Amino acid sequence: MELLDGKKCAESLVADISGKVAGYVGSGLRKPHMTIILVGKHAPSESYVKSKVASCGRAGFASNLIRLPETITETELLGKISDINNDPGTDGLIVQLPLPSHINQQNVINAITPEKDIDGFHPANFGRMALGQKAFRPATAYGICKLLQFYNIPIKGKHCVVIGRSNIVGKPISIMLSNDFDIGNATVTLTHIETPRPLLLDETRRADIVIVAVGIPGFVSEDMVKEGVVLIDVGINRLEDGRIVGDVDFANVAGKCSWITPVPGGVGRMTVAALMINTLMAYENNFNLV
Ligand code: NAD
Repeated sequence: MELLDGKKCAESLVADISGKVAGYVGSGLRKPHMTIILVGKHAPSESYVKSKVASCGRAGFASNLIRLPETITETELLGKISDINNDPGTDGLIVQLPLPSHINQQNVINAITPEKDIDGFHPANFGRMALGQKAFRPATAYGICKLLQFYNIPIKGKHCVVIGRSNIVGKPISIMLSNDFDIGNATVTLTHIETPRPLLLDETRRADIVIVAVGIPGFVSEDMVKEGVVLIDVGINRLEDGRIVGDVDFANVAGKCSWITPVPGGVGRMTVAALMINTLMAYENNFNLV
C-alpha cells in the first residue's frame, strides 16, 4: 500500500504556480488576486478559509477575506458579489459554503460571474466542463484528477466507482473521469443513497478505483473493495473527540489498497491546490497570457 500524498502533490503544484507568478510580476504585472467571502461563523469554514489564504501566500497571490455577518440578507450578499464581479483587481471569487439557511445557495452561486468562478460551481462552468470545453473545473474533483496524474495512476480503461452524487464532488468527478480528457477515459459508475446495497457492493468489489464522498465515517469497509484497489477518500468528518477522519475505515482497508489517500493530508489539500490552478487561469485569462 502506498499513500497518495495530497500535501506533497499540492506543494509541488503550488511551487510551479509561484514560479509562473514570479515571472508575471517580474514583467510588471500585478499579482493574481483571490477574494473570499465568509458569511457568519462556522468552525470548519474558518479552517478551510485559513488554508486558502495561506496557500495564496505560498503561490505568490494576493488575497482578501471579506467577513459578513450571519444576519446579512440574500439581496445584500448578491450586491457584494456584484461589486466584486465588477472589480478588475479580483481574478477569482469564492463564497465559502455552507451559507446560513435563509440564503439560497444556488442563487449565490449563479450570481458569481463565470469568469471569476474559481470553485467551478456556476452552471456555465459546470456545463463547459461536462462538454469537455475549457472551464474552471470544480475544485475538489479537479484536485483528485491532479493527484491521480501526479502519481501516474492509470485511469484510461479502468473501472471507477464513485459513491455520492453531490454537485461539488461526486457528480463532477464522475463526469471528468469518464470524459475523453488527458485525465479520464475511465468507465464510471455513479452510486448514491438510493443505490441498493447489494448493487453498491457488486460495483465497489470489482472497481479498480473507488472514490467516496458521503460524509459518513468508516463507510467504506474492508469487505467492500478488492485487493489492489485505488481508494480516494473525500470525506472530512469531525468526531466528537476532535479527530478528523474520512469516509474510509482506514485502519482495516488500507492494507488491501495499492494506493489510498490519507485524511487529513489527501484530497483536502488538493482542493486548495486546484483553487490555485483555477485562480492562475482566471488571471491569465484577464491579462491574455494564454
Ligand atoms: P453531500 O454531503 O452533499 O451528500 C452526500 C452524498 O452521499 C449524497 O450524494 C448521497 O446520495 C450519498 N450517500 C449518502 N449515504 C449513502 C449511502 N448509504 N450509499 C451511497 N451513497 C450515499 O456530499 P459532499 O458535499 O460531496 O460531501 C461528502 C463528504 O466529502 C463530506 O464529508 C464533506 O465534508 C467532504 N468534502 C470534502 C472535500 C475536500 O476537499 N476533501 C470537499 C467537499 C466535500
